[in-house]
Amino acid sequence: MKREMKCVLCGHDSYEIIGEKQFENIRTKNESFAFTVRLVCCKKCGIVFQNPLQDLRKLEAYYTTMYREEGCRPPQAVEKEFNLRAEFACKFVKKGQRVMEIGCADGTTLGIFRNRGMIPYGIEVSKSNVSLCRGKNIEVFSGLYEKYPLSKERELVFDLVCNYFVLEHVVSPVKFLSFCNRLVNVGGTVCIEVPDIGAYENEESPSDLLFIYEHQFHFTQETIDILLRRCGFKLLEFANSSQPFGMHFAARKVSCPLSSHRTLDFPSNVSDVVMKKIKRAEESFVKRETMLREKLSLLIKRRKLDKKTVVIFGADNHTKILLRLPEFKNISVKFIVDNNKDKQGILCCNIPVCSPNTIDCSMDTVIISSRSFESEIFEQLLGMGIEPQRIVRLYS
Ligand SMILES: [Zn+2]
Repeated sequence: MKREMKCVLCGHDSYEIIGEKQFENIRTKNESFAFTVRLVCCKKCGIVFQNPLQDLRKLEAYYTTMYREEGCRPPQAVEKEFNLRAEFACKFVKKGQRVMEIGCADGTTLGIFRNRGMIPYGIEVSKSNVSLCRGKNIEVFSGLYEKYPLSKERELVFDLVCNYFVLEHVVSPVKFLSFCNRLVNVGGTVCIEVPDIGAYENEESPSDLLFIYEHQFHFTQETIDILLRRCGFKLLEFANSSQPFGMHFAARKVSCPLSSHRTLDFPSNVSDVVMKKIKRAEESFVKRETMLREKLSLLIKRRKLDKKTVVIFGADNHTKILLRLPEFKNISVKFIVDNNKDKQGILCCNIPVCSPNTIDCSMDTVIISSRSFESEIFEQLLGMGIEPQRIVRLYS
């Protein structure tokens, strides 16, 4: 058993334990292993993290070979997300200036910055994504950010450093933001998106969002503010996140990172605020789950879902939650469909995931299992020629 560590943000060593969950198997190219996620909340600064953290070697093997972005979002929703990100970040950068995206995936966001006249650079760990970026002529460093060769020519050269849903993955957010601090000019900006515990209240299962193998840290607006100050940034503003469970913010570089946490001051009740947010999210989930079960019972009665050929649209957490409901025991699911090509051909809860084109428009009843993109998926299904009476919307 690895040792517990001190809080990376404030140096404190007493925690409130949020919970511990064991998971059966995660697969990388060469091995498969069981793992435990044990989450704690620092009693002083309120940051939530896995303690002990996951094994770095296994994490790296997972990221470089197996990690793919999850989600059942239709392409137009994905495009909307990327544009929303770029729109906000472009407030802080001018034409001809340099933009660095850490964790730049296939280079889509950097491509938008280039179209708007900025000079894009990236850091990316997934080898297939690095090839995609290079195919778009985007200069990208292949590997973990920790391996990025910092030098005089590479420091203080960016006007904007951005990263989207990366901060929760790193083994030290303080080191990560200090790295961002070294890349960006004084007066330059960082734009960041990260899951927000405060927003989990509106999501399907806060527990599923908290206990994730690759998420080492979880934040709220309060802990982000402390983290930014520790790393030499001043919070400028929060903006709309591209994800319902996320927060999006910009911060300006005002100094070097603080050399220690000792000079950091913050309100004494931060951890209470964070724990209350977690509790509220869990209570609100129980309420919504009850409502979903009632709706499903009603649908089974009225639309005889238990006698239909049912296809589920969406192969993510929503579907896992749906399939665990007792009401679903009487419904036989033919297959699951998803717009994400990486998911097609795999199993989700032992049910095969196919392309939406596999749906038999004249036969199948389609249950949309996505709260955030229900309307977009509904439109997509109508466009495919599926009659509205064959489509089940659970959330509206
Ligand atoms: Zn702390």
